[in-house]
Amino acid sequence: MTRTFPDLVDVAIVGSGPCGAAYARILSERCPSATVATFEVGPLLADPPGVHVKNIVDPAARAQAQRLSEGPAPQRDDTPTDTLEGYVDTAPRLVRPGTFLLAAGYQQPGEDGLPSVAMSSNVGGMGAHWTGACPRPGGSERITFLPDLEELLDEGGRLLAVDAHAFDDAPFADEVRKRLSAAFDDGRDDDRRVAPMPLAVVRHDDGRVTWSGADVVFGQATRSNPNFTLVPQALASEVVIDGDRATGVRVRDLRTGDEHVVRARFIVVAADALRTPQLLWASGVRPRALGRYLNDQPQTVFAVRLRDVAHVSEEQVDSRTAPEIVPQSGVSWVPYTDEEPFHGQVMQLDASPVPLADDDVPAPGSIVGLGWFCAKDLQESDRVEFDDTGSDPYGMPAMRIHYRLTERDRASIEASRAAIRRAGEALGDPLDDEPLTFAPGTSLHYQGTVRMGETDDGASVCSPTSRVWGVDGLYVAGNGVIPTAIACNPTLTSVALAVAGARDIATRLDGS
Ligand code: FAD
Repeated sequence: MTRTFPDLVDVAIVGSGPCGAAYARILSERCPSATVATFEVGPLLADPPGVHVKNIVDPAARAQAQRLSEGPAPQRDDTPTDTLEGYVDTAPRLVRPGTFLLAAGYQQPGEDGLPSVAMSSNVGGMGAHWTGACPRPGGSERITFLPDLEELLDEGGRLLAVDAHAFDDAPFADEVRKRLSAAFDDGRDDDRRVAPMPLAVVRHDDGRVTWSGADVVFGQATRSNPNFTLVPQALASEVVIDGDRATGVRVRDLRTGDEHVVRARFIVVAADALRTPQLLWASGVRPRALGRYLNDQPQTVFAVRLRDVAHVSEEQVDSRTAPEIVPQSGVSWVPYTDEEPFHGQVMQLDASPVPLADDDVPAPGSIVGLGWFCAKDLQESDRVEFDDTGSDPYGMPAMRIHYRLTERDRASIEASRAAIRRAGEALGDPLDDEPLTFAPGTSLHYQGTVRMGETDDGASVCSPTSRVWGVDGLYVAGNGVIPTAIACNPTLTSVALAVAGARDIATRLDGS
């Protein structure tokens, strides 16, 4: 099979996760005559490009897709395909199927580090492996200098096909929310009360439920756009800069080793919160805030059995072993507030990954996993640094993480542990004595490294429309752009910010 690297495009996008896909989609809708090329270091997993691996029904094919996403360090062939299997795991460096850990540099002496910091390299990025929770930020999570944030979040929801009611009929979901409401809602604003979790899933007419990956974000508008090209296994190694302008991207074809310079009027780097600053660094774009204000959401988990719900006979239990999402999979949300600065995701695990006694058959939906995520106390000194001499397995500048939990972080982790216990007690009987707080990095939600700011004041990398300060034509995208300390799952917010950036490019293309 031959493939062609274009010489010149209007827009070059690096990375095919949900944020890179959002740029391709908005540009395909608004400027269908513009030429757009996406370069992705990882391989294509399945059709349509960017599909969520859990929509791949055949277990062997699903496992193969996960291994292909694990970059330079794939896991063993017999690794379980279910993300939740082994979830309550005390391993100091927890790795999820479809992701790979940063092999070195994740912790410096005397610091907390990010031992579980991970990435995915595949068409669709982490969006081919995610859990699809799409809550909206609230209180100080919100970006105050974006007056149109609500409309952008709506648009992000359209691109991800977010649905808050896909599981309204999940067994006991109402009961779960009633019990959580009684424990948490008092004194909260309406939008901060316990609610069904908005999820990026599609419930089809035949009852099937599928997860939204980057395929849904690309949408038909991108797939049918003759001016759009997606090139997998293509590493962007440098953004070419001429004076104060980005003029193209240097790309290495990983199949042949050949290098190509693709000239472009606009370049969008959507290569995750670690590799976006890495590519800017490699290109000599090194503003003071690059890689700084790195933040991850300290995460605590707990599991309970719902109290006072009917048990069932063994025959009534859904015996699926595949990690498909099904109508039983109710997910509830305890939103972030400034008073309780953490966010709760409560999942009914119908095919329970939590070991139970053999003779104990839970009613579907009665085993509940709770995950609480804290907002980090932001520090400029928390950062990913890059090495001009050492390199990572892709030949890009090696990363070194500096990361510390502050006293305030330790206090909010303790408070979140108390809150998750309170939630557990409201729901039923805990399956473990104590909640488990994971090592930093486990949340897979890394933010801040190319953060947005209202002005170029040295504490930000890009403008409110994601233009990199001082380099015309260069945009950044992904969770790294989020400037606030958010505790909620970040993807809806980062896709919303990508929408604003893509509209900005569309306006500039229209005006030229
Ligand atoms: P990614 O999806 O990470 O995509 C970046 C892409 O860039 C990758 O494909 C990578 O290969 C590519 N790339 C990197 N460097 C280069 C280069 N130099 N050249 C070319 N390509 C490059 N988030 C939520 O909001 N809710 C959830 O419920 C949730 N659950 C999750 C569960 C799991 C198991 C995982 C793994 C993640 C979860 N996340 C969740 C996180 C979510 O997947 C990410 O926030 C989201 O995918 C970020 O999108 P992105 O496009 O910015 O980056």
